[in-house]
Amino acid sequence: MDIGFIGLGNMGQPMARRLIEAGHKLIVYDTRNDAVAPLVALGAQLASSPADVADRVETVMASLPSLQISEKVAIGEGGVIQGKRIQRFVDLSTTGATVSAKIAAVLAKKNIVQIDCPVSGGVGGASNGTLAVMVSGPKAEIDLVKDVLAVFGKVFVIGEKPGMAQTMKLANNFLSATAMAATSEAVAMGVKAGLDPAVMIDVINAGSGRTTASDGKFPQAILPRTFNYGFATALMLKDVRLCVQEARSLNVPNSVMSIVLDQWETTNKEFGGESDFTAIVKMVETRAGVIVGKKS
Ligand code: NAD
Repeated sequence: MDIGFIGLGNMGQPMARRLIEAGHKLIVYDTRNDAVAPLVALGAQLASSPADVADRVETVMASLPSLQISEKVAIGEGGVIQGKRIQRFVDLSTTGATVSAKIAAVLAKKNIVQIDCPVSGGVGGASNGTLAVMVSGPKAEIDLVKDVLAVFGKVFVIGEKPGMAQTMKLANNFLSATAMAATSEAVAMGVKAGLDPAVMIDVINAGSGRTTASDGKFPQAILPRTFNYGFATALMLKDVRLCVQEARSLNVPNSVMSIVLDQWETTNKEFGGESDFTAIVKMVETRAGVIVGKKS
């Protein structure tokens, strides 16, 4: 299939590469030259704007870092909405249900179908094709792209209403964000009491406290002190904020969500939005007066 791909960052880069390796023809666009260069080297064609991408293909995918940028790329000046060939816009970004529904409504006026397709599983999952791929939109349109999306991982069709897959993704990321915040406090407590954090993580992973924080982020990016898991603090903060907003708008209790949000707001303030989200443990370390690292 001919596919447009906009936003070739931590997630977009490996996902676009997998599409090329699966035999699809890609037209790519990113505001950064260094992001498009590796894909062009693999045979992708370079476009000059989102509208240019949408002039050349019927199916355009995007993996973008903020709601404002998703809106601009989809329905703003020079956005895919101005393209001549585009029929469907598959948004792989996490935007929340409200923005997604807004974009879907504006695109619909030009007979362009929005397919929500947020993903979970991190950069590793994007590289290996093991993401959880959550899709919502009109069934007939999903059927047209389902096999292509399977290149990214396991496809879950969530529903037809715009934004349903986004709600699913927010629920998932709230749990992931909570596991990071809670595991940081639990391990810092152990370290301050004299426990070895590596032993703690082994025990937690063999016990009932196991989460994606303990079996992925801690061993890979926190205990070795590399803080390079590949997901920015600003993006996690965006997701938890969206989750709290969505729970509030649905009148669902959100006291745990609000406390977790507070932890990410503080991490963002102290370490910056560009920091890797594993920096949350440093926020806890500062207050506890300990370092959570492998004992040498
Ligand atoms: P990123 O910041 O690494 O990549 C975003 C890319 O978009 C960058 O290459 C940037 O140059 C490009 N970009 C910015 N403005 C643009 C514009 N106007 N036009 C075209 N390109 C533009 O972000 P990421 O980590 O790859 O995340 C992308 C999306 O996927 C986000 O919505 C995020 O929440 C979601 N996500 C990320 C992860 C992860 O582990 N990193 C996992 C699941 C979902």
